[in-house]
Amino acid sequence: MPGLMRSAILVEPGRIELREVPAPQAPPGGIVVRVRAALTDGTDLKAYRRGHPQMPMPTPFGHEFSGDVAAAGAGLSRFSVGDAVMCVHSAPCGACYWCGRGQEELCESVMSTKILGAYAEYIEVPAHIVEQNCYRKPPDLSYVAAAFLEPLSCVVHSIEYAGFAEGSTVAVMGDGGFGILHAALLQHDGFRAVLFGRREERLALARSLGVGDVVDARSQDPSATIRALTQGRGADGLIECTGRQEVWEQAPHLVRRGGIVSFFGGLPAEARVAFSAARLHYDEVRLTSPFHFTPRAVRRAYELLAQHRLNPLPLVTQTVPLAQVAAVFERLDGGEGVKFAIEP
Ligand SMILES: [Zn+2]
Ligand SMILES: [Zn+2]
Repeated sequence: MPGLMRSAILVEPGRIELREVPAPQAPPGGIVVRVRAALTDGTDLKAYRRGHPQMPMPTPFGHEFSGDVAAAGAGLSRFSVGDAVMCVHSAPCGACYWCGRGQEELCESVMSTKILGAYAEYIEVPAHIVEQNCYRKPPDLSYVAAAFLEPLSCVVHSIEYAGFAEGSTVAVMGDGGFGILHAALLQHDGFRAVLFGRREERLALARSLGVGDVVDARSQDPSATIRALTQGRGADGLIECTGRQEVWEQAPHLVRRGGIVSFFGGLPAEARVAFSAARLHYDEVRLTSPFHFTPRAVRRAYELLAQHRLNPLPLVTQTVPLAQVAAVFERLDGGEGVKFAIEP
């Protein structure tokens, strides 16, 4: 391990600097990963644009990554130096009230013990993550594809949590990376996904991933389109992936009586939304709001990637070196691309 490494630091909203910082040391039971691929994510973009309550600046950032074990801490037997690994950036404590009830995504310490800093040459992965949420990367899976473990875990948890019945028609609102990943996984799992978006290149991308019903919401009204596809009933389920208030408020009106609405895309902390109470009550519309993921979801995401059952690579707009992190976020801020892969 070298003494210093290069790391992209989010100094303040809108300003990223590449700095030389001390390289991490492997903690007991943990590892240091030489990052081979790190992906940009909507959370990173949000932090870049307006700051983030969980990311006091200046801060290293980036949390979707894969790489090689560069150092192993005392007492570690699962991995050795040189192993190619794919990890997520958090893991539950296993001891709190929520962990005891199988709701590890709500673990009291899952957020406070997460790691950031994948836009760097090395990242330290502590023991609790290594034990629960790190996997060996298969040789025939690329580092970039392996870095999708974290976003795909979110999507696996989201779909599982919504509890759609077999064969459901599920509308997905939003053609960002998460909307497209949801539609692709729904389709893979035997649901009928109907993806609504507003950008031609992203809709084409969804089609290339096998999503059958892809709708341009600029020219086709979502409500009329969904009704036309469901004999006038409305969708069995809906997943909100735009993070826009008007779409949240419209969502309960796009599902059928007894339908399920899942709010995946978050709104700003101060947002308040309004629905028709009668619609929820008399039509038994169920609202759910998944957060984060469980180790079980990470395992399934790993299997989907390792067995090549879902190819996420079309979602990568471009692969760039670490020196271009700042340029990449300028481009994302300007609306360009879906996800970029950084190769430090
Ligand atoms: Zn816990
Ligand atoms: Zn992510």
